[in-house]
Amino acid sequence: MKAFVLYGPNDYRLEEYPTPCAKDDWAVVKVSYAGICGSDMPRFFQTGSYHSPMVLGHEFSGVICEAAPNGKLPVGTPVAIMPIIPCGTCDGCITYNEPFQCERYQFIGSRNDGGFAQYCLVKESNLFVLHDESELMQGAFIELLSVGLHAVRRSGITDTPGSKKAAVFGAGPIGLSIAYWLQFFGHDVTVVDIRSYSLDIAKAIGIEKTVFFDDLNEKGFAYTFEASGAGAAVKKAVEIMAPKGTFTVVGRNSKDTVIPTATFEWLMRREMTLKGCWGYNLSGEDEVMQKGIAAFKAKKLVSHLLKPEEMSDMLDNMWNHTCDFCKVLIDFTEES
Ligand SMILES: [Zn+2]
Ligand SMILES: [Zn+2]
Repeated sequence: MKAFVLYGPNDYRLEEYPTPCAKDDWAVVKVSYAGICGSDMPRFFQTGSYHSPMVLGHEFSGVICEAAPNGKLPVGTPVAIMPIIPCGTCDGCITYNEPFQCERYQFIGSRNDGGFAQYCLVKESNLFVLHDESELMQGAFIELLSVGLHAVRRSGITDTPGSKKAAVFGAGPIGLSIAYWLQFFGHDVTVVDIRSYSLDIAKAIGIEKTVFFDDLNEKGFAYTFEASGAGAAVKKAVEIMAPKGTFTVVGRNSKDTVIPTATFEWLMRREMTLKGCWGYNLSGEDEVMQKGIAAFKAKKLVSHLLKPEEMSDMLDNMWNHTCDFCKVLIDFTEES
């Protein structure tokens, strides 16, 4: 099969690679669309992957082309892939029953071969069944939507009755996913960013309130979310909150996050809650996710829909920020 293979930092190529075979409860998926995630970039350019050679790609959809011998899903089932495979036996798994608390998980697309290829081997329990093939593009967003949903759940906002005033910092794919769910659950959401390009995408997916970071003067937000990874956004997210507000951090800052003394004191005096957030947990969320995926305007987030041959140049552009981009999808539907 054709696959985009990573050998080490800065060493990757599209080439022939062994096609996987179904075994036990693992099925072979013919990949349709695979998204490039921000977390893939350091793997391609700085660190390499967990082992080598390896096929990255953990945000993808496809159709089962070889059923798992011990599975239930038949050939032809359209699916989205949930990448994490918890061990199920460690302290983290048993105590918290959350996949991202596992101490020795496998991950499709960083520890196991992933979706930047024509075919991928996936454990059946990691397949999310889509309504039909018309949802395959949305399916490539399931991990993103899951992370956004988890952030919203972590904040506690959906457990509180009535519409709440919430702000999301960062209109990248994760921030937009959080904003999407907040609006989906009927909350009053404002998306904040420094880039008009990103705020335009927020509007295109149906977010009514968007504002430039420097123009944000409104206060009294009951919930704030930080999805930009910028230290300045952490400070502002605290400053605009109402007393007893909840601040959920999702963005990763590559530098130290410094909170000024006055901001820290504000957080204490107003008795705010700070919540960490990592990964996702889809248990019990099947129905919500089915509805969320169906209504999500995925195409509006797709800034680039590329052939596998075009992936190499795009990675360079993304790494060097030589063009605007939101979600870059690799289209494997034409490959046979
Ligand atoms: Zn990702
Ligand atoms: Zn575990």
